[in-house]
Order: sequence, then C-alpha cells, then structure tokens
Amino acid sequence: MTVLSHTKRVILALLATNMAFALPSHPASNTTCTGYPISQGPEDAYTVAPACPPDSSTLMLSALPECARLATNAAAAARSGTAPQLRTIFKTTDPAVHAHIASTFDAIASACGTTSTTSIPTIHCGDAPPRTECTTGKVAGYATGHTVAFCPFFFGLPLLPSSCEKSKSRAGLVVHEFAHVRDLVGGWIVDVAYFPEGVLGLGTADALRNADSFHLFAVGVEMGCWV
Ligand SMILES: [Zn+2]
Repeated sequence: MTVLSHTKRVILALLATNMAFALPSHPASNTTCTGYPISQGPEDAYTVAPACPPDSSTLMLSALPECARLATNAAAAARSGTAPQLRTIFKTTDPAVHAHIASTFDAIASACGTTSTTSIPTIHCGDAPPRTECTTGKVAGYATGHTVAFCPFFFGLPLLPSSCEKSKSRAGLVVHEFAHVRDLVGGWIVDVAYFPEGVLGLGTADALRNADSFHLFAVGVEMGCWV
C-alpha cells in the first residue's frame, strides 16, 4: 500500500462522515480567519453544492498537488525578486521581504505536497465544530486552529483559475487557507482584504498579514495577472 492510497482511504472514510482526517497531535494554535466569502466578484455563477459532494475527497486530493505547484512557483518567483507581483501585490523591493514571502510559500508547498498526513492541517469537508460558517455564512472555507474547513461551495470551484478575472479555484483556496495555519507558516496571517480589488490596495505591512495577498500572488504568477 502506498502512503497516498492509504491517505486517500483515510480521507474517503472520514469525509464520508463529515469528519476530519489526519493529525492527532499538533501544538495548540489560535489560528483563525473569518472565512473566504463567495458572494463577491464576477464568479457568482459557480455551482454551489448543497452539501459535501460524494466526490469531495477526490476533489480535495486533486487540489493538493496543484496547491503545491502554485506555492512552489510562487516561492521561486518571490525569491527571484523580479516577479512584478512583488511590486503590485506586496509593494516591496526589499530582498529580506522577498525571502520572507518565499519561505511562507515554501511551508505551504511542503504541506500541500506531502503524502504524510502528519504534515498537513486537518481538513474538513463542511464545518469544523463548533464553527458554523459553512451552514450559516456564505463562505468557501476557513481556518481554525490547525484545521481547515472547506465548505460545499469550494467543491464547485474549478481546479485552477480560468483567467485573471475568474481567479477563484480549489488549488488557490487551499493556498489561501493554509496560509492562515499559524503553526504551519510560523506567522500570523489573517484576512485584511479579499479579491484583487481589495488586495491590490494594501501596503506592504497589511499584505504580509493577509492570506488573500499570498493566494493572489500565487495566482498572478501562474496566470500572468496583476503585472
Ligand atoms: Zn481567509
């Protein structure tokens, strides 16, 4: 049995009962975010699933390696210092800041790319009790402690962005939510602003503590957006 197939079986078993897979013991963390909203931007036409779909584990598993690829490429772009999104999204030409951004993406890439369930946050399909935003709020996902919850809307998103205007994707939202996990990235990354119209207006300090800035930097590098 490969590690991945074992992981997949665990995900299948636990998502089926709307429970988490992975991670018995991680250090206590007060990671939190307010949830990635679904009702803004031009993408409202995406299908909103009424509940965790039967293929949620497959949709989740396909997003993780693409998250790893996006984050790996974003780390390289940040480290190079030449990516135009360093200026448009993070408003910085400082090599030390570039290195900080790159190391954050390294952590996200490592977590998304691993086949070990002990190295990634716990993932829920649907709400992670006692949080209720999936059922009471219009969000695609949120992070809390060492757990990331992906709501039904998430599973109706495409694997990758289709354009700069339709930037929401499963792989990208994993980047966003994993950026919140404090004991993963070693920092305090919250939600200051969402979507290009919010993110592009932030200064360096706010961008560095804003999950969607990291998400859209990765999307921008992938798609050539916001140059
Ligand atoms: Zn967030």
